[in-house]
Amino acid sequence: MARVGFVGWRGMVGSVLMQRMIDEGDFAGLSPVFFSTSQVGVPGPEVGGTASAPMENAYDLDALAAMDVIVTCQGGDYTKAVHEPLRGRGWAGYWIDAASALRLERDSLIVLDPVNGDRIERALESGIRTYVGGNCTVSLMLMALSGLFRESLIEWISPMTYQAASGAGAANMRELVAQMGAIHAGARNHLDPASAILELDRSVGATLMADAFPRQHFGAPLAGNVLPWIDSEMPGGQSREEWKAEVETARILGLADGAVPIDGLCVRVGAMRSHAQALTIRLSEDVPIDRIESLIAGGNDWVRVVPNERERTLQQLTPAAASGRLDVPIGRLRKLSMGGRYLAAFTVGDQLLWGAAEPLRRMLAILRRSGRISVE
Ligand code: NAP
Repeated sequence: MARVGFVGWRGMVGSVLMQRMIDEGDFAGLSPVFFSTSQVGVPGPEVGGTASAPMENAYDLDALAAMDVIVTCQGGDYTKAVHEPLRGRGWAGYWIDAASALRLERDSLIVLDPVNGDRIERALESGIRTYVGGNCTVSLMLMALSGLFRESLIEWISPMTYQAASGAGAANMRELVAQMGAIHAGARNHLDPASAILELDRSVGATLMADAFPRQHFGAPLAGNVLPWIDSEMPGGQSREEWKAEVETARILGLADGAVPIDGLCVRVGAMRSHAQALTIRLSEDVPIDRIESLIAGGNDWVRVVPNERERTLQQLTPAAASGRLDVPIGRLRKLSMGGRYLAAFTVGDQLLWGAAEPLRRMLAILRRSGRISVE
């Protein structure tokens, strides 16, 4: 029975992964071992009605080396600290990772099997043992547009993102709600419809700028605000999140660097869960909109075309509607006034599912199906 180590399972991505694996019966026939960097000795999660053994130390290389597979949602610093020493001592198990640290390594592959299942198969055959989930907005964009990529219809894309608080982790979600609470607490005497609206406006503005306003994790108010910078600074003015779009897309699809330029601005918004993005796409030819819609709809089993109508857009094409669902809706599809090769689109998806946990869960399932790890 394959021993599968789970690291970082308590966090945002890890919790969603645990839930999906339980829902899909993925633990059957596996021997899971739970690790933590901070809660060693504390009981692991209950799986299939059975309590897990106390958690092992996620930095213990001997304990990790006893695993056939390690699935980690712990984060890039952890991966950098542990992966190389573990490989260095000859560990030849499968490493499945949510963090970005190993995505561009020569002997790893970014996994998104509805889009690059053929590349995963070839990587397994060639002996690759490190499989990494892609950046959340990149994976969601590819799930939405795989039908157009398959027909080589995309010349370039400019994505403008609207990314939820949960994309930054569990602590940031709590901070967003704390910020919402602080705003409401500060404004509660000005909510009567008969009160002066400028008093409410002033109260909210003062709360947002107060020293006591909770902003430890985001570094700024997110509630009642938007933050047009995600991740670190790169040379040339991009944020790291923006830089990943083109680089990771090429890596997932096996395209030459620069073959499809993808560049835009990444923005954090006060949604709790699910990332949205507005896409400007230059097509390689002027394809009629109904043909575009049918190509997109046929891209994979999860993409859903939402008709470009007000009511359906407001009901189906929002983070609130997409959260907790594997469907990836895409709508607002129309040609821009710049000409027939300019396509507008808006897509949204649960970044904790297709943008994080789901490709990892499915990679483990691929290892099982292919007989590369044993199940009982
Ligand atoms: P996270 O919520 O901050 O969790 C990471 C780890 O922090 C946990 O597994 C846990 O590890 C530790 N932790 C400390 N205090 C905690 C608390 N009070 N509650 C829960 N966990 C706590 O991070 P994440 O968003 O899951 O991201 C993990 C990795 O996935 C990162 O590399 C991230 O870049 C990547 N990723 C995230 C998303 C997303 O949408 N969030 C999408 C794609 C990729 P210990 O048990 O070891 O303490």
